Amino acid sequence: MTKEPKKKIKVAFPHMGTIYIAWAAALRKVGVEPFIPPYTSKKTLSLGTKNAPEAICLPYKLILGNFIEAIEGGADYVAMISSPGICRLGEYGSCIKNALTDMGYNANYVELQLYDGIEGIYRFLKEISGKNNPILFIRAIILAIRKVFLLDDLETKLSYYRARELKAGEADKHYKKALKIVDEAMNTRQIAKAKKLAFAEMEKTEIDPKREVLYVDITGEIYLVCDQFSNQDITKELGRMGVQTRKSLTVSSFLKDAIIPKIFRKGETHLQRANRLAKPYLMRDIGGDALECVSDVKYADERGIDGIIHISPFTCMPEIMSQNIFPKMREECDVPILPLIMDEQTGKAGYITRLEAFADLMRRRKRKLKTEEKNPAEPVK
Ligand code: SF4
Repeated sequence: MTKEPKKKIKVAFPHMGTIYIAWAAALRKVGVEPFIPPYTSKKTLSLGTKNAPEAICLPYKLILGNFIEAIEGGADYVAMISSPGICRLGEYGSCIKNALTDMGYNANYVELQLYDGIEGIYRFLKEISGKNNPILFIRAIILAIRKVFLLDDLETKLSYYRARELKAGEADKHYKKALKIVDEAMNTRQIAKAKKLAFAEMEKTEIDPKREVLYVDITGEIYLVCDQFSNQDITKELGRMGVQTRKSLTVSSFLKDAIIPKIFRKGETHLQRANRLAKPYLMRDIGGDALECVSDVKYADERGIDGIIHISPFTCMPEIMSQNIFPKMREECDVPILPLIMDEQTGKAGYITRLEAFADLMRRRKRKLKTEEKNPAEPVK
């Protein structure tokens, strides 16, 4: 009698931008089936909001909604990325686990302790795969890290092309194809090839190289900065207005600070720069990404770019603090700052109006500075 092949367990992670491509690769590498829940939508938000405390931050509601959709879709495990956190983040894991149990879901819940570095990821892979194969796990971790860096580079390219494309939506069309190329790469050699192919795909976008482009940094709470559903696709909207964006908080910058061992890092990390530039406005880490956000304003000002946008979830404690520091920073920093607070009530029309007004303000300022010859033609990025 032939033996039935062993059923692979399906593990789901919550969404945050394109990160699913990296974790799916790591899971496949260790022989686990990734379960990718439907991309975050209004339905996800409504499921999360219905089952979460009203005043809890937006990322919690969206993650909970992702988990509900994953379990209902057939995931065996839901994996939560947790960290100690000075804010509520430290409690997210147990709250989500309890919420799922209270709702009667009996999928297994597993935590990935990111702040335990490589060791935390190793423990996690061991738990979900039931294997103990150091070489395989290290390969899976390296593959995921390489993908994260490539995905962030690709997004930077996307932003360049969106701000200059001749035909609306062309850059996004090529970006979708490029993401597929990255998704298919399963080892270091394939990643190198995928990088060339994906960049070549992006370069097919026809652009107007002479378009007057504005340069804007996006900072804020990392989930909102990286996740296009929760930030209402801010980089796409700005791209349409001729604004090239640079995300100050990315998963790759986080990995450099929290996961990648010091000997493999090049240059100053985001956290190191934050500790250098946030003073004298903020003297220590107060949780979330507040220290980084304060320093990002200073960094944007030093580079002479056209503006910085700070996005935060309603009721996010660390970001309420950083927004209260910005008025003091405005006395010394010339860079225009736009703070945006997001929650499930944020409407698209009012949001776009604010972005358009900010783009107008930056454009007028840029032209004025140009006539006064105060601003370099291309800011140092
Ligand atoms: S950083 Fe803000 S949004 Fe994130 S968990 Fe903490 S309070 Fe919530």
